[in-house]
Amino acid sequence: MSIHVLGIDIGGTKVAICVANEKGEVLASGRIPMQGEYTEVFPKVAELVRKLLSDSGLSQRDVSACGICAPGPLDLKNGLLLRSPNMHWDKVPIRADLEKELGMPVALENDANAGVLAEWFFGSGKGKKDVIYLTMSTGVGSGIVSGGHLITGTTGNAGELGHVVLNPEGPICGCGLRGCVEAYCGGRSLKMRMQDILRFRPDHTIMRLPEVAGDLEKLGFPALIAGCKAKIPLALEMMDEVAFRLAQGIGVALAAFNPELITLGTTAYYAGDLMFKPLMNYLPRFTWSEFSDHCTIALSGLGLRIGELAGASVAFNTLYERGQWQP
Ligand SMILES: [Zn+2]
Repeated sequence: MSIHVLGIDIGGTKVAICVANEKGEVLASGRIPMQGEYTEVFPKVAELVRKLLSDSGLSQRDVSACGICAPGPLDLKNGLLLRSPNMHWDKVPIRADLEKELGMPVALENDANAGVLAEWFFGSGKGKKDVIYLTMSTGVGSGIVSGGHLITGTTGNAGELGHVVLNPEGPICGCGLRGCVEAYCGGRSLKMRMQDILRFRPDHTIMRLPEVAGDLEKLGFPALIAGCKAKIPLALEMMDEVAFRLAQGIGVALAAFNPELITLGTTAYYAGDLMFKPLMNYLPRFTWSEFSDHCTIALSGLGLRIGELAGASVAFNTLYERGQWQP
């Protein structure tokens, strides 16, 4: 008999909801814009859940659990969403409200933890016990599965590899520290660095790329990738530094967790070999072969499907931890 779950993915601009089964198949999905206050959006979430269940021919009793993934920081102990640059709601008790509304267990995790669960259950991590997912977009997020369990830590914030400090004299990070992995490899930091270098150089070949068209606001990873494809020396140099610092961060992860698989999502996935090749060249400087020989480092197996399955994977993790489902 199939097991069904609900997945709710909360982003900066939308709430995406899906009904999925244990094979990672999505039976129905929909989204609503993230507009207005929580008290206005929550009834729409409940309404869309009911519609999706009826579209899939299921009732609430046929669904075993619901998983929510949201950008951090979260208060996992109390199941609250907290205010951040990506979230205008603050201290919203979404877990308790959904439990009451749906009458089923509801779990909450941040995006990167949900991402590693999706890779572990449905992607290239299937059947493995030690898997790390590293995602680079605006920031750098990571989720860690070690010994067959998601590592959450005392307050639910374990796995923040993006804020391992690589150089205390390095560039300032969004978190307030200096020289974090994210300060070198996150999209927001990279954009600021490119803007600093190119602000008064409108004739630079990077500024004249069609992706940039002279607009400093359009600098960032997509522009860097385009610049590397056009073999612009500054772009190649900057990508090289991103790869060097990423290798340094991965060295920390290898030594700490001795994983079997590290999967790279989002920007690394888009950049492909442009980032992956220099990364693999630098890696031996930051880790023993004992670690790297037993670890596959690869671009995400699920690729862009991670987002689709993230919430559902949080739900399946609840069932797994309760002994009600095996991946
Ligand atoms: Zn940081």
